[in-house]
Amino acid sequence: MPNHDALRRQLEDRLTRLLHRVGKIEGDLRQTHDPDWAERATELENDAVLEGLDEMTLGEIEQIRAAIRRIESGSYGTCTACGRPIASERLLAVPSAITCVTCTHDRR
Ligand SMILES: [Zn+2]
Repeated sequence: MPNHDALRRQLEDRLTRLLHRVGKIEGDLRQTHDPDWAERATELENDAVLEGLDEMTLGEIEQIRAAIRRIESGSYGTCTACGRPIASERLLAVPSAITCVTCTHDRR
């Protein structure tokens, strides 16, 4: 079984940073709004941007968690669609990839 220790550490580092970022974004979202209406309109726009960021970050967190689970179960690096090994160049570029290049393109 291939050893994914280094990769796993890398994924966990990234996960920690992302969780930190989400905490920061959610802190910003909870900040009390300025009672002045003109200010408030701008703040609401900022909230929409922050919420979009939050969603993107949460999506990535999910992917990284899934990759770590797959490392633990020994299925990391195997395509979930066709069961063939995922090319190592692809895993280097996208460590949380769960399908090989062929299956990813087939789905589009
Ligand atoms: Zn595949």
